[in-house]
Amino acid sequence: MPLILPEFNLARFNTLASPVTTRAYVSVASREDIVEAIGVAKEQKLPIVPLGGGSNVVLTDHLNALVVHVNLRGIELVGESDTEVWVRAQAGENWHEFVQYCLNMGWYGLENLSLIPGSVGAAPIQNIGAYGVELESVFAELTAIELASQLPVTFTADGCGFGYRDSVFKGRLKDQYLICDVTFKLQKTPQLVLGYPALAERLAGIPEADITPQQVSEAVCAIRREKLPAPEHTPNAGSFFKNPMVSQAQFDTLKQRHPNIVGYPDAESMQVKLAAGWLIDNAGFKGVSRNSAAVHSEQALVLTNPGKQSAQYVLELAEHIQAAVLERYGVALEVEPRIYPSALP
Ligand code: FAD
Ligand code: NAP
Repeated sequence: MPLILPEFNLARFNTLASPVTTRAYVSVASREDIVEAIGVAKEQKLPIVPLGGGSNVVLTDHLNALVVHVNLRGIELVGESDTEVWVRAQAGENWHEFVQYCLNMGWYGLENLSLIPGSVGAAPIQNIGAYGVELESVFAELTAIELASQLPVTFTADGCGFGYRDSVFKGRLKDQYLICDVTFKLQKTPQLVLGYPALAERLAGIPEADITPQQVSEAVCAIRREKLPAPEHTPNAGSFFKNPMVSQAQFDTLKQRHPNIVGYPDAESMQVKLAAGWLIDNAGFKGVSRNSAAVHSEQALVLTNPGKQSAQYVLELAEHIQAAVLERYGVALEVEPRIYPSALP
C-alpha cells in the first residue's frame, strides 16, 4: 500500500510555487498503487486530483482532496516498421527528458515540443503544442484507469477529442480517468516543421536540407530559455490564457481599430487565432505587478509569482487583465491552466 501523507504542502509540486496544502497526498509508482489510492479516496470520500509536474495548475487554497502524484516510470519500443516506431512512455516520465531520449534514439517528431515542463501523462490532456506542432500529430494511444470502475481503458486519437490545447479529458471526461501511459508514433526519417518565425529566424544560417532534429530541439530550447521565465527561478504556469479564436469579420473590425493586432488564420476552424500576448501587452500590462503577482516582461501571456505567495494573487491579476482586454478589444480571454480547488467536483 503506498504511503498516504495527511495535510501535505504542495509548494514544491506546482511551478507557481503556491504554498497550499492538500488534505492527503500519495505518490504512485504502479497501476496497483493507483488502484489502492482510488480505494482510499473512496473510503475517505475525497475527490482525486492527479498531479504530474504541477506546471499547468493554479492552486489557490487548501484542497479537500487526495492528490495522486503520478510517478510511473519507463520507456519502451513497442512496434516498428521501415519508417516508423511506436514508443510507449509511462505517465510519470518527465516530458523534456522523454523528448531528448527519443532524439538520441533517432526517433523524430517531438523536437518542436522540447523543454515543455511537466509529465508525459499530462501531455495529452491539453494536447500540448509549441512552434507549430501539437501532440496529436505524434499520438498513437494511451491507457488510463477509469476512477469509477478502477479498470484500464485504451484511448486512440479518435476517443481523445483533441483540439487546440484541448482534449476530451478537459471536457466530457474531465476527472474520470488517470492516465498511466502514452504511446507515440515517431519517424525514423526527420520531417521537420520549421515554419514558426522565431524558429526559422534562429536556424536561418543553416541551409534547410542540412538542418537536423537535434538542431531544431536546441533552437527551440534556446528561444524558450531567452523568452520564458524558468519556473525554478521565477515561479509561473506558462501561458496563463489560451489564444482566443475570433471570426474573420470580428478580426477585420479589430484590425481597423488596431492595425498592428496579431492574428493567424486557422484553416481547420476557419477562424482567426489572436495572439493573446499581444492583446495583453497592448493593453499596457507587460511587466506590471499587482500585490505579489506580475506579468512577465518578455512575454505578457505569462503571469509570475516571484514571491512564492498564494496563487490567489495571480488569479486576481488574471481577472484584472481579462476585464481590461474585454473592455478594450471585446475579446474574452480563457484561462489555460486548471484552477484548484474551485475546479474540484
Ligand atoms: P500538471 O500541472 O501536473 O496537471 C495538469 C492537469 O492534468 C491537472 O488537471 C491534473 O489533474 C491533470 N493530470 C496530470 N497528470 C495526469 C494523469 N497522469 N492522468 C490524469 N490527469 C492528469 N503547454 C503547452 O501546451 N505548450 C507549451 O509550450 C508550454 N510551455 C510551458 C512553459 C512553462 C514555463 C510552463 C510552466 C508551462 C508550459 N506549458 C506548456 C504548460 C504545461 O507544461 C503543460 O500543460 C504540461 O503538459 C503539464 O504537465 P504537468 O505534468 O505539469 O501537468
Ligand atoms: P510567439 O512565437 O511569440 O508567437 C505568439 C503567438 O502567435 C503564439 O501564441 C503562436 O500561437 C502564434 N503564432 C506565431 N507564429 C505563428 C504561425 N506561423 N502560425 C500560427 N500561429 C503562430 O510565441 P511564444 O509565446 O514565444 O511561444 C512559442 C511557442 O511555445 C508557441 O507555440 C506557444 O504556444 C508555446 N508556448 C506555450 C506555453 C503554454 O503554457 N501553453 C508557454 C510557452 C510557450 P500558438 O501558441 O498557437 O503556437
